[in-house]
Amino acid sequence: MEVLYNSTRSKGNPVKSSEAILKGLSEDGGLFVPDRIPALDKTLEELAEMTYGQVAYEVMKLYLTDFTEQELKACIAKAYDEKFDTEEIVPMVEAQGAYYLELFHGATIAFKDMALSILPHLLTTSAKKNQVKNEIVILTATSGDTGKAALAGFADVEGTRIVVFYPKNGVSKIQEKQMVTQKGKNTYVVGIHGNFDDAQTGVKQIFGDKELTAYMDEKGFQFSSANSINIGRLVPQIVYYVYAYARLLKEERISSGDKINVVVPTGNFGNILAAFYAKQMGLPIDRLICASNENKVLFDFFKSGTYDRNREFVLTSSPSMDILISSNLERLIYRIAGNNPDKNKELMAALAGGGTYTITEDMKEQLADFYGNYADEGETAKTIHDLYESTGYVIDTHTAVASCVYGKYKEETKDTKTTVIASTASPYKFTRSVMNAIDHKYDSMEDFELVDNLAEISKVEVPKAIEEIREAPVLHDHVCEKTQMKQMVMDFLGI
Ligand SMILES: *Cc1c(COP(=O)(O)O)cnc(C)c1O
Repeated sequence: MEVLYNSTRSKGNPVKSSEAILKGLSEDGGLFVPDRIPALDKTLEELAEMTYGQVAYEVMKLYLTDFTEQELKACIAKAYDEKFDTEEIVPMVEAQGAYYLELFHGATIAFKDMALSILPHLLTTSAKKNQVKNEIVILTATSGDTGKAALAGFADVEGTRIVVFYPKNGVSKIQEKQMVTQKGKNTYVVGIHGNFDDAQTGVKQIFGDKELTAYMDEKGFQFSSANSINIGRLVPQIVYYVYAYARLLKEERISSGDKINVVVPTGNFGNILAAFYAKQMGLPIDRLICASNENKVLFDFFKSGTYDRNREFVLTSSPSMDILISSNLERLIYRIAGNNPDKNKELMAALAGGGTYTITEDMKEQLADFYGNYADEGETAKTIHDLYESTGYVIDTHTAVASCVYGKYKEETKDTKTTVIASTASPYKFTRSVMNAIDHKYDSMEDFELVDNLAEISKVEVPKAIEEIREAPVLHDHVCEKTQMKQMVMDFLGI
């Protein structure tokens, strides 16, 4: 049965999945949402016998219904290949009674690779299916990890160009080096004087600029997005929750039908929304545990029903979660408003205006599946330290936020259900914060000295993504004000 995509902000014409992927964001500023959440049509036992790629097909075919079997399988085969450093694609590690689902074995060692290694293929396939003649310009705002993963995915992909905006002083040294050393003649990386929210707002404004869109079309270009507002990002993220459950089943760590909890370190609300969709598809997930860092706008929202971005933006050791406007929450708001675009639009207008909105009691009741909490900087460091001391397992700062929040959840609820923690980045990506947490004797070392020390203590080989940037030359040094983003894009396109 066909799934079509509606905007969260108007009852317009629903579009096919390939069109939603091409557009990224709806013209009215809304996000595309499926008109129904399809149910899994394979049993969990059947899924337990499948490879990652096979599970990916079984999940994605239910959403991307205008792709042929051959098209979708080709995209999957090109995405989940030797770019990943393990055949399992997403290995799971048990530590202190929880299962860490390692989503960082792709080309840029963060979970963004899970979706961004397939998005370029979904997008170019969509362009072909829709007879698009224009060159597609991917516009991306990044809090650090999406940028590199998108660059790696789209570099030298024919018919595309990619522009990445990142907060100049808001990413880790290694994240920045990964981006500014990116090769590929269709790539463009710009640091902005501002934070991630500024970058994301700027990108959304460019998308909403109808005059620019028309001018671009004249010149043979059209925009799309590699951010998690693109449904082509969200759908591939559902896959690993299904795969993780199937793996637990296959290894007899759970019995069929047992419910599990998932803990997700959250920023833009894309990853945890994918887990929510997996649950709606019939995957036996109980609680969706939303972990925030000191930018705890989501924790406050789940507690009070009021979303309020009016607060200080804190730069933390988990920069990919330094976000006050979680874009994908809009998809959840739309859903708990009874798929009502008018109600959603009203709330989003309030957010854009005064920076806050409050949901109704009825909407709040529908959030019972979610549990929110947060970890401050000290707790995050202590979590890394203590887990390493007692097990030898080293986790990154984002995963540590999740691990810490899981501890708080267990203490509060006494819930002992099997739990999967989304491990979203390799500790090598945040080496300085990780090593500082483990021992202050590392504080004075250089970045790559820290890398070598991490290899020694974790007994995990230095990933290729890190080796590559040790000596790589800087190829991008553009910096701009947040008001100049549109001009930067036009300069790059030469229009
Ligand atoms: C992007 C990112 C997150 C946050 O994921 P969202 O889907 O934006 O909520 C968490 N951890 C890491 C390492 C990330 O790169």
